[in-house]
Amino acid sequence: MSLIVQKYGGSSVADAESIKRVAKRIVQTRKAGNDVVVAVSAMGDTTDELLDLAHEVAPLPSPRELDMLLTAGERISMALLAMAIESLGQEARSFTGSQAGMITDAQHGAARIVDVTHKRVQEALDDGAIAIVAGFQGFNRVTGDITTLGRGGSDTTAVALAAALGAEVCEIYTDVDGVFTADPRVVPRAQKIERVTSEEMLELAASGAKVLYIRAVEYARRHGVTLHVRSSFNNSEGTIVFNPAAPGQDENGDPVEEPIIAGVAHDLSEAKITVVGVPDIPGKAAQIFNIVAKSGANIDMIVQNVSAAATGLTDISFTLPKSDAQAALTALTSERDAVGFTALQHDDQIGKLSLIGAGMRTNVGVSAALFTALYEAGINIEMISTSEIRISVVTRADTIQEAVRAVHTAFGLDGEAEAIVHAGTGR
Ligand code: ADP
Ligand code: ASP
Ligand code: MG
Repeated sequence: MSLIVQKYGGSSVADAESIKRVAKRIVQTRKAGNDVVVAVSAMGDTTDELLDLAHEVAPLPSPRELDMLLTAGERISMALLAMAIESLGQEARSFTGSQAGMITDAQHGAARIVDVTHKRVQEALDDGAIAIVAGFQGFNRVTGDITTLGRGGSDTTAVALAAALGAEVCEIYTDVDGVFTADPRVVPRAQKIERVTSEEMLELAASGAKVLYIRAVEYARRHGVTLHVRSSFNNSEGTIVFNPAAPGQDENGDPVEEPIIAGVAHDLSEAKITVVGVPDIPGKAAQIFNIVAKSGANIDMIVQNVSAAATGLTDISFTLPKSDAQAALTALTSERDAVGFTALQHDDQIGKLSLIGAGMRTNVGVSAALFTALYEAGINIEMISTSEIRISVVTRADTIQEAVRAVHTAFGLDGEAEAIVHAGTGR
């Protein structure tokens, strides 16, 4: 008997009908002779709706209470799914994150899994039941409090269960047919990728392709879990995310040709802060970024301009999650005299486009082709950053969709047919 872990995202369990459809699929997997453990997300846009509600009653809800609130979403879907499975004549048992042994650190809103004590899940399987685990939630032993794993964190729950239980495969069921060369909601001609390395998937996820949560990809990579991202709306094969034996090889060590470009991702969740008029002397960057780090902000790109010879002053710009910007601005403002800068600018109308592919390592001219494509589309580039297998550029937010489509076409990624989005609101 093999063990399969399946994760169903919010759009796959958005209403009663969807829950019944998913229940059927789970029962089929069980009837085919597999042990099945399911991680489930909150129904539809429940998490966003609960967040909106929280902000209606308090401008800055406490992280502990926010986690208490948000975890209610998955509690609803897990119980309903277990009921739907039982009404099909198959035994099912639902578990909250803490019941399933998802032990995390105490970081509310972005907790990391530190241990999985899956005794009760194993007992359910041993009794012949299907185990349904609430995604996205955990428990901290020191504080005794409920935590959440970060938005999209049900993916991490599934991967952690797959790793702990030694599952054959971890299937991530969602509202599109797999991982595409770009977000199919933005690029209708995006193509499904059959196989992608965990390294490329990590960069795609980090660059805004929310089809998989970055921490889940990291966890899968560290624990050697193979992921199969697929649609819960049909039986098509999806995308396999695998761990290559070495660069340029498949998981068995056989040579493979790496695609120059795996895909294009975009991200509208970041803002840009510019520190204007910084004295161009050693130690100023260290001072600024220490202040920002202490505010808890996570910095992405950094650009420092050449200093104006006459004044000896320079500007430093950096990007960070929009949600971290206010804290960083407040921290910098309070240290303005100590640092000696003239002003701060905050721009939350930026978009980031990233081109990702392992074959970039061995191919020259990728940046030139990217900049040419953007130039021909009339799109201005404000910032650039690169890694070994990624090039990212910042543009105006309102040009990002056009930019993604232009780059997708320029790199020959457009498919013949239109990509299908089965459900979801894209929220
Ligand atoms: P779920 O509720 O199943 O977790 P998500 O909304 O988190 O689903 O992720 C699926 C969505 O990710 C898709 O509907 C799609 O709009 C978006 N997406 C962004 N980039 C990509 C990509 N490269 N391939 C597939 N989907 C993508
Ligand atoms: N429901 C949570 C969210 O919307 C977790 C998840 O869906 O993965 O972020
Ligand atoms: Mg998701």
